[in-house]
Amino acid sequence: LIDSAIAARYDSRTTDIPQVPNIITREFLFDYLVVGAGFSGSVIAERLASQSGKKVLVVDKRNHIGGNAYDHYDDHGVLVHKYGPHIFHTNSHHVFEYLSLFTQWRQYEHRVLASVDGQLVPIPINLDTINKLYGMNLNSFEVADFFKSVAEPRDIIRTSEDVVISKVGQELYEKFFRNYTRKQWGLDPSELDKSVIARIPTRTNRDNRYFTDSYQAMPLHGFTRMFEKMLSHPNIKVMLNTDYREIQKAIPCREMVYTGPVDEFFDYRFGKLPYRSLNFKHETHHVPVFQPAPVVNYPNEHLYTRVTEFKYLTGQEHNKTSIVYEFPTAEGDPYYPIPRPENQEIYKHYRDLAESTFGVYFVGRLATYKYLNMDHCVAQALATYKQIAVKATANS
Ligand code: FAD
Ligand code: UDP
Repeated sequence: LIDSAIAARYDSRTTDIPQVPNIITREFLFDYLVVGAGFSGSVIAERLASQSGKKVLVVDKRNHIGGNAYDHYDDHGVLVHKYGPHIFHTNSHHVFEYLSLFTQWRQYEHRVLASVDGQLVPIPINLDTINKLYGMNLNSFEVADFFKSVAEPRDIIRTSEDVVISKVGQELYEKFFRNYTRKQWGLDPSELDKSVIARIPTRTNRDNRYFTDSYQAMPLHGFTRMFEKMLSHPNIKVMLNTDYREIQKAIPCREMVYTGPVDEFFDYRFGKLPYRSLNFKHETHHVPVFQPAPVVNYPNEHLYTRVTEFKYLTGQEHNKTSIVYEFPTAEGDPYYPIPRPENQEIYKHYRDLAESTFGVYFVGRLATYKYLNMDHCVAQALATYKQIAVKATANS
């Protein structure tokens, strides 16, 4: 009797039978799980949410967003970069335009001095560097001849040593590059791909800017504020202090974007990929200015490579000033992929595996094992988003 009464009730309400949660077919709570809230992860999450209407869960094992570009106000109220100096520069109009959706900018051209032979001289090496270092008064033509006279041309430019020696010879190589590189990488420049030191040009003019890109600017209110805006879309949820492996099974997502170290993702099955790390020593000084340049490099002295004074970068006015020393180390958080052929060989195995791993996109400096600047990460993430969007359109 009871059964038939229930049946009758349901018969009369076939259209509005209460829905019980579907526990048989597994539903996806999110379309995408994005691992890492740095540049790479945040750009993809933002595009997926705002342009494709996807629901995105961003997880980061750190207690903040922004990845290595994270900045914050320290205990003295000075805006600092937790993971060392991050200076934005790009030649890509597209990248600059995209980031401008989330921040205003402060024009900033970066300048660096190197401590060599008891003097502070401009690096990249330029006309003034040579004149100051050797007490000369050369002009641009004469310094070009000077470089020619000391350069030791090499048939094949393969390593970072080749790059410098072939342009400026042994002595300047020793003064500016050899020891800095040994400290920074734990390797001699002859053991590193040419691309590493090729980042630093040599100039015959007086241009003392570290970069010559067409766009050079810092986010007006800092990187973290920019990331907050990127991730503020209602389709994006952010979960911090969480390794993705803790929640991967509990929170089903249709596809994944992974921006952590690629070897870790695959449980190091082809061996560990070497990454270089840094220890940062932050200090605040009760003076308005600490040093005469935003960054001072120490190629030949100290265990640290460089000292950065943040107020130059951020333009903040404050009666105190905060600085950071960078001490390179092999252990610790992976900050730099190490560009050399044997590491590239290992990476190729991971890359092939990554390419055949269905439903996971590998993006960024750690996941593609490339010495990428921030703007490169943005460009790579935008390109990956495009791929995802094209695939989605083709499948619909
Ligand atoms: P990351 O910023 O490393 O983000 C990856 C995120 O993934 C991290 O937050 C990490 O916690 C998270 N993650 C990893 N594994 C897991 C996991 N299992 N679960 C959850 N989360 C995980 N570039 C410039 O353009 N200009 C500069 O001046 C500059 N200076 C630099 C100075 C230093 C000292 C360093 C180290 C880098 C510098 N860079 C600079 C490079 C810049 O930091 C990178 O290009 C960029 O930040 C990389 O972004 P990403 O998102 O790929 O990686
Ligand atoms: N480098 C050097 N002396 C310097 C500056 C740079 O030998 O005074 C070399 C060093 O190998 C360094 C590389 O050039 O790692 C790239 O320098 P960059 O300042 O671009 O390094 P990053 O800011 O990425 O740490």
